[in-house]
Amino acid sequence: MLPDNCLFCTLARDGDHVARTDGFVAIRDINPQAETHLLVLPVRHVDTFRDVGAFPAEEAKQMLDFVAETAKGAGLEDYRVVVNVGAGGGQTVFHLHWHVLGGKITGMPE
Ligand code: AMP
Ligand code: ZN
Repeated sequence: MLPDNCLFCTLARDGDHVARTDGFVAIRDINPQAETHLLVLPVRHVDTFRDVGAFPAEEAKQMLDFVAETAKGAGLEDYRVVVNVGAGGGQTVFHLHWHVLGGKITGMPE
């Protein structure tokens, strides 16, 4: 999917952001599988975690830091971080994203 018609490219630019830092944003999942279910997205379009090597090392670290900051900012101490990789791994939106699930978890993101 080209960035022009990518849902998460659009939401990274214009969505309702729970948190943001340079290059990354967090949004609420529209179909939450936990009391708190957030998605961390890089603003830069990368299809899938398989291509995580597209991020320079410093940016990759910033992304991981931001996942942790987003969870902390949502008041979570204990939580689950999930990345579905490829259709066979349950990925349905092909713009890299990190699920952050906290509180009572009712399902697995798919
Ligand atoms: P995945 O299945 O890992 O690709 O995750 C995609 C996630 O995006 C699912 O948990 C969906 O509920 C979520 N999602 C789909 N459309 C939207 C939207 N418009 N806003 C927020 N989350 C969405
Ligand atoms: Zn995208």
